[in-house]
Formats: sequence, structure tokens, C-alpha cells
Amino acid sequence: MRRVLFSDLDGTLLDLKSYSFARTLKSVGALKSQGIPIVFCSSKSRVEQEFYRDSMEVKDPFIVENGSAIFIPRGYFSQKIPYNTYVIDDYEVIALGKPVGFIRDVISKARESMGLSLLCYFDLPAEEVSMYTGLDLRSSRRAMEREFSETILKGRVTEGFNDYLKKNGLRNIPGSKFQTVVSDKADKGKAVDILISLYEKEWGGIISYGAGDSINDFEMLQSVHDPYLVQRPTGLWADLEDDTIKKVNGIGPSGWNKVAQIILEAPAHG
Ligand code: MG
Repeated sequence: MRRVLFSDLDGTLLDLKSYSFARTLKSVGALKSQGIPIVFCSSKSRVEQEFYRDSMEVKDPFIVENGSAIFIPRGYFSQKIPYNTYVIDDYEVIALGKPVGFIRDVISKARESMGLSLLCYFDLPAEEVSMYTGLDLRSSRRAMEREFSETILKGRVTEGFNDYLKKNGLRNIPGSKFQTVVSDKADKGKAVDILISLYEKEWGGIISYGAGDSINDFEMLQSVHDPYLVQRPTGLWADLEDDTIKKVNGIGPSGWNKVAQIILEAPAHG
């Protein structure tokens, strides 16, 4: 059976602080040479992920903005995709989430009617977003080009605000620094399930692996056959309360390399 790896980016494939992939590039090459797809699955946007796809020459489908959409390079699967798709650039897209325009409208209306001072990406020029995020200017520009979510950089969110989001089919995902508003239909686990079904249709059965570092990866890890958690910079693992998720020794990229090694050494099943 063929193997597929679903992977988080920040703090897993990429170093949590520097966003560097220098330490994982060799393992990425080893997986690629064995024909093992590496499916990025992250809160990052399409343009952010494209930067890493291009840099690492990874050409597999990818899941953006917390499970809001699946981008599949056109012609990647030989069979017709049995879901509603639309074509953008050279991708077929399966969208689970809502367009960013709708999300921004809801946030604007909510903060106006409640008198909340919330600052989002869309309020600020890239220079100021850089100040808040610590990203360089180019990375900030990429982060701001979102299609399915909006990030709240500053300000206190109230219960009323979250209720208003809920009424409009949105939810607020707390992050380590900022909160991100997405559709309540955005779901990394569902997106992974869909891709697994497409790979199975193509290859007639696969073994799926997952690598992540945080609570944000829980849905993804629950959807794969063989899930792994890498260590956080503290040396601890995220507390996911699921014994089937294996903990590897190694912080971020060094843990990722170990997962890659496990996959490469896995006996061919079936
Ligand atoms: Mg992460």
C-alpha cells in the first residue's frame, strides 16, 4: 500500500520561531524520492503555503486556513473529483469554509454594533501587521492574502461577539498569539478524510500518517491511520488526551525527521 503524510507546518515541518525548513529538507527529499506525498495541513493561507511548496518543491495537494479548503493541483488525480470544486489558477479547489469577504463583513458589523475595538489584518497596512506578528514584510503580505479566514491582532473579544459569530456560521479559534475567525464548517479532519478518500480511489488503499505539534492538529491526527506528535520547544508534547497519538522525541523539525524515518522504514503492508 502506498503511504501519504499529512503534516502541520509551524512548529512541526518548520521551526516554530524562524519558520526555517533547513533541517527537514533532506527528509522531505527522501519521502519525495519514495513517491510519498507530503500534504501540508495548516492554518496558513494558500500563498503562504505556496511559498514553502515552491521552496521545497512539494507538489501535492494541501489544506489551508484550518481546514477551510483543499487545493489540488489540476490533473493530480486521474479520476474525476466527486465533490463540488472550482478552478482557480492551476488548482481544483474543494471549499469547506466561507469566503473571507463574508467573514470580514460579519466582524465589521459585530464590532460596530458592540463598540469593540478589534484590529484585524484588513484594518492595517502590511508594515503594521509586521509589527504585531514579528513577520518580515514579505511574509506579512503573504499572511494577509487570506481567502477563508481573518485574524484578530488586537483587542478583547467578548462572549457576545463570539455568539454573533456563531449565529453567522463562524467560529473563533484561539491561537498562541492571535485569534482566527473561520467558518464553523472549516475542519482539518474532514479535509484530511476527503483527501484520504481521493487517494484511496486513485491507489486502492493507502496508509496515512500525520505529524503535528499542537491542539490545532487534533482533528487532522484523528483522521489518519498513524498519528504522531512532535515535541514543543519546551520539550513537552501537546496534551491531546488520545493514547493512539504517538509521541516522538524531538522538538519540531527534529521530531518531524523521526516521523519521516518511521514512514520510510515502514514495511510495505498489504
Ligand atoms: Mg503547529
